[in-house]
Amino acid sequence: MNRKLLVIGCGGVAAVAIQKCCQNSEMFPELVLASRTVEKCDALVASLKGKTDTILSTAKVDADKVEEVVALIRRVQPYAVLNVALPYQDLTIMEACLHCGVHYIDTANFEPENTEDPAWRKVYDKRVEEEGFSALFDYSWQWTYAEKFEKAGLTALLGTGFDPGVTSVFVSYAKKHYFDRIDTVDILDCNGGDHGYAFATNFNPEINLREVSAPGSYWEDGKWVEIPAMSIKRGYDFPEVGKKDMYLLHHEEIEALGKHFPEIKRIRFFMTFGQSYLTHMKCLENVGMLSTTPIDFQGTKIVPIQFLKALLPDPASLGPRTKGKTNIGCVISGVKDGKPKTIFIYNVCDHEECYRELGSQAISYTTGVPAMIGTALVLDGAWRKPGVFTTDEFDPDPYMDMLNKWGLPWVVVEDPETVE
Ligand code: NDP
Repeated sequence: MNRKLLVIGCGGVAAVAIQKCCQNSEMFPELVLASRTVEKCDALVASLKGKTDTILSTAKVDADKVEEVVALIRRVQPYAVLNVALPYQDLTIMEACLHCGVHYIDTANFEPENTEDPAWRKVYDKRVEEEGFSALFDYSWQWTYAEKFEKAGLTALLGTGFDPGVTSVFVSYAKKHYFDRIDTVDILDCNGGDHGYAFATNFNPEINLREVSAPGSYWEDGKWVEIPAMSIKRGYDFPEVGKKDMYLLHHEEIEALGKHFPEIKRIRFFMTFGQSYLTHMKCLENVGMLSTTPIDFQGTKIVPIQFLKALLPDPASLGPRTKGKTNIGCVISGVKDGKPKTIFIYNVCDHEECYRELGSQAISYTTGVPAMIGTALVLDGAWRKPGVFTTDEFDPDPYMDMLNKWGLPWVVVEDPETVE
């Protein structure tokens, strides 16, 4: 059987996903690494020489162009494409996969690079009006491909990172093994790591800052409730990390969970931030540096947030500096056998251990490992069915087993601290 995988993108997350595939050569006998800057792919291949049985090769591609991705897929003839480039490329890569008849996997839902594009704006404004949340990203664009993928007999697996990805699997696992009915889910993302910089982001700065500076929102009684950015703050004592302040954000898995588990009355997402991060972000926002609208600077058009990205440390470079742990998981409440029940299901990941193993920090690690796992399950057929799906729509058990096996062991605690 053809198990050749084409990986598009070669940043922090890709480096982990690729190395994990290379540890799992039986499942991934051949990988083609393709990205805009092919030198990054070449450097990664060179660093893996003699360390894996997986056959590796590289290619250059601009994944904003459907025709370039189609030509690459035709030449490489992979079984599936793992998209670990940016959310901007989701639709072009999905189009190309459909065109060539190969499966598609990614880690983040679509958002446009140019938020001034009138065609996108029209759909976006209608969605904000109808749905009530104003985040720049949402699943609607990729869900509209469901029928096309179904008819073509192809699988598109969306959002197999940690959050979204593992967190959604935690919910379906809880429903399968711990609850007759789930009432509330609080997804908690704690990064207790310290990289020593006054300000840096742990994954792509542009995507990260767009997400964090947007209004927050949560799902309650079948609809969205939107709040000003950072206006709901809670404290939580995270196992193995300690007490942290966290803030309610909009997050993409809420949209999929709300749709697929209509019984859940409330779904919220919280992320921890230190004061230094928040102060810097507010200041940058106030002076316009987070804007996605191009400005004219001395005769050149620049996008402020892209310029800021060029100034900030590359997230892939944080590995050797970051100490501490992440704790990401879900506090889930509901009913089992007629009695109320609450569990906290989570993973703890140590930045320094990740660096020792793969030369990366824990945020890339906790995203790259589930990217490999989701891809493996599509390849081996356990998670392969025609259509477009998020990770909460499959049997969670094989995914949960692979998390334990491939470096992200999880824990279930009964009667944990809850979030007010
Ligand atoms: P990086 O910025 O480190 O890497 C992005 C890579 O994509 C780079 O190699 C970049 O190339 C490449 N790329 C960008 N544009 C194109 C293009 N047009 N054609 C081909 N390649 C392109 O990002 P991360 O590794 O931090 O993030 C990767 C993905 O993972 C993102 O979609 C992010 O949202 C997602 N993510 C998901 C998480 C989850 O838990 N679900 C958590 C964290 C991230 P170049 O080197 O030329 O810039």
